[in-house]
Amino acid sequence: MVAGSRIHRCRVIHRIAVRPSSGKRQAAAAAGLVNRLRGARIRDVARRGKYLLLEMDRGCVAMHFRLDGQLLWFDTRQTRGQVDVAFELDKGTLGFTDRRHFGRVLWLRRPEDLPGIAALGVDPLASEFTAARLLEILTGSSRPLKQLLLDQTKVAGLGNIYSSEALWRAKLHPERAANRVDAPTARRLHAAIVRVLARALECCSDPAPDFRDPEWWFQGLEKMLRVYGREGKPCRRCSAHIRRVKQGGRSSFFCPRCQS
Ligand SMILES: [Zn+2]
Repeated sequence: MVAGSRIHRCRVIHRIAVRPSSGKRQAAAAAGLVNRLRGARIRDVARRGKYLLLEMDRGCVAMHFRLDGQLLWFDTRQTRGQVDVAFELDKGTLGFTDRRHFGRVLWLRRPEDLPGIAALGVDPLASEFTAARLLEILTGSSRPLKQLLLDQTKVAGLGNIYSSEALWRAKLHPERAANRVDAPTARRLHAAIVRVLARALECCSDPAPDFRDPEWWFQGLEKMLRVYGREGKPCRRCSAHIRRVKQGGRSSFFCPRCQS
């Protein structure tokens, strides 16, 4: 929809959305984004890990949505509601919004100029992500499985929800040391990760996203959750009560009976 479009004007409404993690100040970053995008054409849209990239005829825009960031589409140049950054295109306006202000919009000469992108590990939806590759990653670490799966430099794109769901599906305890996984178990975890992501894509597109509705959210995601957010509720496989444990500041949900 936006590939091939020219950005007539970029407006930074809430500067915090363009704040770089280090170096340049917000004001300079906002001015840089606005100036560089004036008249630039979006060649393509791509994803790297959790980053969405607008690949421009010169440079690129990297967006990270964190917990609540989202994109909205407006048919005119007028935007409604809380939009942090507005990209005025040929046929309407693409708005980036994040009411919690954790999400970011950054201009980069090349995607790899952002350390978070340069260091990304294997993409679990790419053909390079095989059971053998996963085993190699697991064997190299004694960290708990859940924390290893969240490490974007190992497997890029898995977050707290999908890693919890994948471990439940593979019947693996989130605190189990990664290097205590053998080849057949790694195959099971590999299949679980791929399945969970495929199911997430299905669920998130049914109902279809409505990018014109600022209130719209991935309601469909609820349908796929087997363990995440279900503390105290019965496991859907064995009926034991789901437990929650904190790992590196994040909540992991697991079944104490069937995940080991
Ligand atoms: Zn269970």
